[in-house]
Amino acid sequence: MYVRIESEKLKMLKSQPTAQDCIAMLERLVGYDTTSRNSNMELIDDMRSMLSELGVESRLTFNDEKTKANLWATIGPQGTGGVVLSGHTDVVPVDGQNWSSDPFSLTERDGRLFGRGTCDMKGYIACVMTHAKSMAEADLKTPIHFAFSYDEEVGCTGVKGLIDDMRDNLPAPLAVIVGEPTSMQVVGGHKGGHSYVTTVHGIDGHSSAPDLGANAIFYGARIINFIEQLGHRIKANGDPNNGFTPYYTTVDCGLLEGGTAANIIPARCEFHWGFRNVPGDDTDAFCKEVFSFIEAEIEPELKAVSDAAGVTHELRHYLPAMKPDENSPAETLLRHLTGLNESGRVAYGTEAAHFQTAGVPGVIFGPGSIKQAHLPDEYIDIDQMEACHDFIGKLTEWASENEGIN
Ligand SMILES: [Zn+2]
Repeated sequence: MYVRIESEKLKMLKSQPTAQDCIAMLERLVGYDTTSRNSNMELIDDMRSMLSELGVESRLTFNDEKTKANLWATIGPQGTGGVVLSGHTDVVPVDGQNWSSDPFSLTERDGRLFGRGTCDMKGYIACVMTHAKSMAEADLKTPIHFAFSYDEEVGCTGVKGLIDDMRDNLPAPLAVIVGEPTSMQVVGGHKGGHSYVTTVHGIDGHSSAPDLGANAIFYGARIINFIEQLGHRIKANGDPNNGFTPYYTTVDCGLLEGGTAANIIPARCEFHWGFRNVPGDDTDAFCKEVFSFIEAEIEPELKAVSDAAGVTHELRHYLPAMKPDENSPAETLLRHLTGLNESGRVAYGTEAAHFQTAGVPGVIFGPGSIKQAHLPDEYIDIDQMEACHDFIGKLTEWASENEGIN
């Protein structure tokens, strides 16, 4: 009787995917129009069935309408912490953008792969999904978790359901690698964001008799001026050596609307304002300064004209900053796998901040450049896909030989 014996090594080699497989997977993922306003269920179901064919179960957490889902899956030993590979499945709209080819059909030109979401961030998810088979066959000692979210591009909100489920029902992961496009450089920290829409409700009247009304634009301008001055004070307290660009928390007022005609006292003035904060700066305290100013200086004057006048606020966006920690298991693992010793800082927000808040240290590390994200003709360089493919291969090998990060 003839018995064929395959070495473990040979088995591994047989199921090793190629960079070309990752690109084929990217083509498949780009084909789903997962613009944030749409359902992502077709993409999630497809990934779920790919995983289930490998014997890997998925956990889904949904939005209220059940039209969108996060997917969580664990490969390797259950019941112990592992490394989370995290990415968002949604993409920004292509509305009004001029594309040279169909944004939802992957197109290769000059060593680049064009399509919506190629760099932000289906390229990373494609590499991770392509390696699922070799991970499942590798008999991992440290589990690898997949965490794919919805609604990242509209304020990093979808992932919260996944993180709550993880925190409440699963063993605490050791580290998370959020694959936003960093050109395969390690990023250890990012700024947070905190913003409001404020509306001044004035009293209208003929512009020839301003004392009979309350000019909402004048009051709005005073509030905006206070916010700008606050920005100068915050900047003066910044630490030029913290690695962020710019190094201080910035204030912003990017949208203003008010009035109906030049000869009518405006009854309404609405503006968007907020902060992009460095870790350690308390945006709640900054917001409170603005609200206190309004309560002390603006509202009494408005109320003196009419009880119906006043100022209201609506929270628009809140994302904590991600605080760098060079000694975290996440940075230690990345240094080990990549040989890169520096970790950078970025000014855009990511889901890594929510993982950090839940106690999971992370890094941002993924293929493609943020410079190509959100633009028409978004692309990822083929060599970035190859680099990410290599990295996920190394991570798989590491997880099959090591138990935990040390
Ligand atoms: Zn992104």
